[in-house]
Amino acid sequence: MTPALAPTLATVSEKLNLASPLKWAKRFARLGPDFYTERQPSPLPSPYWVSRNQAMARELGLDPAWFESQAALALFTGNLVAAGCQPLASVYSGHQFGQWAGQLGDGRALLLGELETAHGPQEIQLKGAGRTPYSRMGDGRAVLRSSIREYLCSEALHGLGIPTTRALCVTGSDAKVRREEIETAAVVTRTAPSFIRFGHFEHFSDNGQHEQLKILADYVIDGFYPACREAAQPYAALLQAVSERTAHLMAAWQAAGFCHGVMNTDNMSILGLTIDYGPFQFLDAFDPNHICNHSDTQGRYAYGKQPSIAYWNLFCLGQALLPLIEEQDQALAALGSYKTVFPQALEDRMRAKLGLPDSHPDDKTLIENAFKLLAAGKVDYTIFWRRLCRFDSPQGRESVRDLFLAPPAFDAWSLQYSERLEHVDKGRRADLMLKNNPKYVLRNHLGEQAIQAAKLNDFSGVDTLLTLLQAPFEEHPGHDRYAGFPPDWAASIEISCSS
Ligand code: AMP
Ligand code: MG
Repeated sequence: MTPALAPTLATVSEKLNLASPLKWAKRFARLGPDFYTERQPSPLPSPYWVSRNQAMARELGLDPAWFESQAALALFTGNLVAAGCQPLASVYSGHQFGQWAGQLGDGRALLLGELETAHGPQEIQLKGAGRTPYSRMGDGRAVLRSSIREYLCSEALHGLGIPTTRALCVTGSDAKVRREEIETAAVVTRTAPSFIRFGHFEHFSDNGQHEQLKILADYVIDGFYPACREAAQPYAALLQAVSERTAHLMAAWQAAGFCHGVMNTDNMSILGLTIDYGPFQFLDAFDPNHICNHSDTQGRYAYGKQPSIAYWNLFCLGQALLPLIEEQDQALAALGSYKTVFPQALEDRMRAKLGLPDSHPDDKTLIENAFKLLAAGKVDYTIFWRRLCRFDSPQGRESVRDLFLAPPAFDAWSLQYSERLEHVDKGRRADLMLKNNPKYVLRNHLGEQAIQAAKLNDFSGVDTLLTLLQAPFEEHPGHDRYAGFPPDWAASIEISCSS
């Protein structure tokens, strides 16, 4: 950015104050300066809207007219700080790719504060709003490409019923940002009840700051896991509750064919939300060994490894909480719940995809065989399940069979499935399946097409995808091309940690 273009942060005049009718709370800020550094956002020149998520705006209770305003554009770019906001970057540490990385922190995200909403307080973060004391070698910026990906994918997961941080809007600027090539800057405004990560706990534990560790754990328990307070050992109860939420999250990812890509402990939400969208991918052809992150040369975060990596990460959290739990056996028992909750949650999700309203002892085998069948045939994951919704009709069944180069393998599984369906009401099954097998997921090539158009200032593709992905189980007539097979070039898209 040339100095002449560099804007200065707007001081909050009474006029701008009036223009920003938001009520901010400072819950996280009240934890005190051990937990963060206050930092003003760094403005971007001549910002423009890339996309606004009206559904999210309604949930936050934003005035629609205000959300159109220049004040809103300035606020969500970090060019104006509204009265009542105390922007801050929080400090955390973490394990990255299995190694202790030491102190990290919000290197390019600023928490503005919490908005009081009908759904409780929601933290509002600007991602890409400039450097912080935790930026290390980074520039504190996010590029348009990765901001659109985070914006769309968090709403896609929400549309699928998968716990996630959300995204309110993306703003862009022509300011240049250097990555592998020169790109332009953008800011995603994202929201969550809390952005606290496993890494926040690891940070204070590793530093021997046990008082701060307790303050943080009490904050999380009182704000988000109040039932744990009633337990004999609230911190062990917290570890168990986080283990269970994480187990449900992993089941949801696996069932949806979602790969996160960078499951470092600093990218694991204490609320069991999907957080920090980077080189994620929805599977095209089903492959348990699929690696979506071009930087992950060892395949640590391959699709099929996600559930065991989550457990490894929970172990790090358990280790971090040990000064509060004191008894190692209690921590191990709390972690143990993951091993029962995850398989059960995955089976429940897969049973819903198969249209089975109740359970049967043979379901586990039926599900395992489905995964084996899809892996052997490298069958498109999303299309298989959506077509399977029409399994009752001969044409529907044939359309699933057509997906296999070796149809006899499908026939064998299909026989097993048909037998299981004998006592299941057809209408109920179809209804369940259509609500659990999306027609639309954010495939890499779809995101890529929207990004390429956005780079040329055409943001309509982003808005179209947002509409489809927020209601992914609906038909959306006229949009079938967004539900088709990936083109050949999709296989050559390389997404790395660089964002
Ligand atoms: P991630 O891999 O995106 O989860 O980031 C890991 C750490 O690097 C976090 O502390 C981020 O805040 C930080 N980081 C990533 N990209 C940047 C950037 N462009 N500028 C500053 N910090 C960054
Ligand atoms: Mg991160």
